Amino acid sequence: MVKTVANDVHTLIEQDKKHYIHPTSSPKLQQEEGTPLIFTSGEGVYANSKDGKRYFDGLSMLWNVNIGHGRKELATAAYEQMTQMAYASSFKGYSNEPAIKLAEKLASISPGDLNAVFYTSGGSESNDTAFKLARFYWAQKNKPKKRKIIALENAYHGVTIGAQTATAIPLFHNFSESGIADVLHAKAHITACENGDKNDPDYESSIRATIEREGADSIAAVILEPVQGSGGVYIPPAGYLEAVRALCDEHEILFIADEVICGFGRTGKMFSVEHWGVTPDMMSIAKGISSGYAQLGGVMVNDAIHTVINEYDGVLAHGFTYSGHPTACAVALKNIEILENEKIVEHTAQMEKELLAQLKKLEEKHAHVANSRSIGMLAAFEVVKNAETGERFAEDVAPAVKVVDECFERQLILRALGPNRDVIAIAPPLTITKEEIAEMISIIDEALTASF
Ligand code: PMP
Repeated sequence: MVKTVANDVHTLIEQDKKHYIHPTSSPKLQQEEGTPLIFTSGEGVYANSKDGKRYFDGLSMLWNVNIGHGRKELATAAYEQMTQMAYASSFKGYSNEPAIKLAEKLASISPGDLNAVFYTSGGSESNDTAFKLARFYWAQKNKPKKRKIIALENAYHGVTIGAQTATAIPLFHNFSESGIADVLHAKAHITACENGDKNDPDYESSIRATIEREGADSIAAVILEPVQGSGGVYIPPAGYLEAVRALCDEHEILFIADEVICGFGRTGKMFSVEHWGVTPDMMSIAKGISSGYAQLGGVMVNDAIHTVINEYDGVLAHGFTYSGHPTACAVALKNIEILENEKIVEHTAQMEKELLAQLKKLEEKHAHVANSRSIGMLAAFEVVKNAETGERFAEDVAPAVKVVDECFERQLILRALGPNRDVIAIAPPLTITKEEIAEMISIIDEALTASF
């Protein structure tokens, strides 16, 4: 007997409930209420759902669809590569053309001497790879005791077990407490301390004090997101990245920049470290590398690390089946070509001014809106009890969740973040126009009015 497959929304919701375990979701809620959305198609900043609605994708899904939805050129690139050779192994030194060409391209667009890439399938794998490479590097340099990784409070680096240990958002430790050894956390963004000001009240929790306490000879690397993303979109103060770079140089510690969200134009530069003229020793990349059209990530390494790798006469026993995936690399090449040819990074920097101006208007109009900020199309504002005094709502109020729900009712997708759930993140596709920014802001405006 032929089994018929029903394709209506209700059947799909039931099948979803029965068989699909969702990542970073609330299973019980999902069982009770069913999936809130089944996406079917998209174009530009819009994403369509199975029930016939059109949503404004104010977060580029997971901060990754940088060139917007529905770009057929990427499908063509995937088709052409797939019909030639969809997949090929990169183990044992085997190679393939898209992986080689993309590596060359990445070297040409990365800052400083970040000239070689180790491919992964996403951001978490990239950070785990960076940690392993840092420890490998120091072991090869006859400093095997340099093993510790310093990450920042409120950081998000992913969910594989190494990356999760570096992630400091408590929610991600509820699921599974176990982590890797030798990962420490320091307080974020205290420039004076990193510059050596011991009078700062936060000194003891700074990166500098952590290095002094633990001993530089035990520390392999410092990892940070140049702009913290999932923690709540925190742009570092002037001088911070430079201070961390100098601190790492002073103590012979590798500096890993997690550009998983920030990279590929998101902040109005190809890579966000360019804003501060800083070159890290390693740079984790993913998301915007392919605008989400294929699963791909990587770690860019500088010449010193690359040399140590090249001089190793054993087997570099680290690699994923999908490291250097030809189809994913072909898609990424086309994606970067579009970013460059259409001057999307420059456009993003222009649109930042527009978005900031509109957010300021929201601040002027709504008594609960404060601290709006944006770097490129990586933006946020806070929902506070009193914008004038800066008083926050109590932790259990989670005011941003309410506003985000009201936005969703009006078919705008945003995300509530931050330790107090009072930050609303905005990160639309970089191709967004002035008119689309106005559309998005007017929905937020209505949602705020409905919330309070
Ligand atoms: N690093 C950062 C800064 C991220 O934002 C993310 C994902 N949101 C990751 C790493 C993990 O990437 P993935 O989900 O692709 O493993």
